[in-house]
Amino acid sequence: MTLDFAYEALPQRVVFGAGRRHMLADEVVRLSMTRVFVIADTPEAKLIADDLAGAGSGFTVAAVWHEAIQHVPEDLAERARAAVDAAGADGVVTIGGGSSTGLAKAIALSHGLPIIAVPTTYAGSEQTAIYGITGGRHKQTGKDPRVQPRAVIYDPELTLGLPLAVTGPSAFNALAHSVEALYAPGANPVVSALAMEGVRAIHRSLPAVMNDPGDPAGRADLLYGAYLSGVALGATAAAFHHKICHVLGGTFNLVHADAHSVILPHAVAFNAPALPAEMAQLAAALGVDADDIAGALWDLAVASHVPTSLEQLGLRVDDLAEVARRATAEITVNPRPFTEADILALLHRAHAGMRPARTTTGDA
Ligand code: NAD
Repeated sequence: MTLDFAYEALPQRVVFGAGRRHMLADEVVRLSMTRVFVIADTPEAKLIADDLAGAGSGFTVAAVWHEAIQHVPEDLAERARAAVDAAGADGVVTIGGGSSTGLAKAIALSHGLPIIAVPTTYAGSEQTAIYGITGGRHKQTGKDPRVQPRAVIYDPELTLGLPLAVTGPSAFNALAHSVEALYAPGANPVVSALAMEGVRAIHRSLPAVMNDPGDPAGRADLLYGAYLSGVALGATAAAFHHKICHVLGGTFNLVHADAHSVILPHAVAFNAPALPAEMAQLAAALGVDADDIAGALWDLAVASHVPTSLEQLGLRVDDLAEVARRATAEITVNPRPFTEADILALLHRAHAGMRPARTTTGDA
């Protein structure tokens, strides 16, 4: 292998550990925030916001915002920005999943305010400079360093009550970040190593957490894998699989994480023949045969009780052609050349929820 790459590590402070949420006030002070706008869309997040308001450490919680919607609808972003103006805030704290983080990013994009993120799902948005805002059935994504959270607090205790219907698909969202980091634009050996550690952590912890959601050690391991996977996405870019999921979410309003759990095995099955070295790495991380990775991911989905078909998610067969057309327009680079017909065929397999067949590498 010839080593020749560029890698830009993103600056950020991370604290990880059970109970670390109680250090949120310290992070606010560290970033010299004086009037904090808090996004908190779950009851537990609201309790943390209340604690922060009572901390009395030279800053004020200027407003608490309770609404977060996936894919960040334009009108929600505008209303939240107006509330930030009214509060005179100079910093944003977001406690919640990717939807809350996404709203904080929309604010940072227009107002340039620093973000502290306290993630409570496995989406990984807190590790990226990627934002997305949706209007007119189209999710517009982009990259801007202003939206990268400056500090992140990972407290696995906050995930103990995450419903299983969110836990499993959200973990697949993370897994997809790590898998695609092997070949997405910007891929490099440093990030691949992080990503494969993320795959190992998710693979060993997800079925255990689905069987025992209140297990602190399993939840911590899963959150650790999600953190690494977020880093992997942040250092690379959204690629083939991710772009298809963006269309499913942005245009058809499918739940983002559910789309990931359905599409990932089929996206891997399509690209595997063009990626023998990368698939060997992934096979080693998963502990499966290199020609059956897509099938193994599908098996993991079944074992984790996450959705495995687009039909289950309510997408009509008649809609697949529009998904294929839009996704083809959005995917600019891919290791394996493809046509709209290829994407449509992939979508039909994902709609039916079939276990992907074994692949033959090297013949793409
Ligand atoms: P989400 O934030 O919408 O959360 C899903 C549901 O779980 C919500 O009802 C939320 O209130 C609830 N919830 C969250 N944490 C909880 C907890 N600990 N206990 C109980 N309930 C909890 O879903 P998500 O999958 O985390 O995020 C999806 C969004 O994130 C999408 O818009 C997606 O595009 C975006 N995303 C962005 C990036 C990026 O880099 N920009 C990366 C991944 C995902």
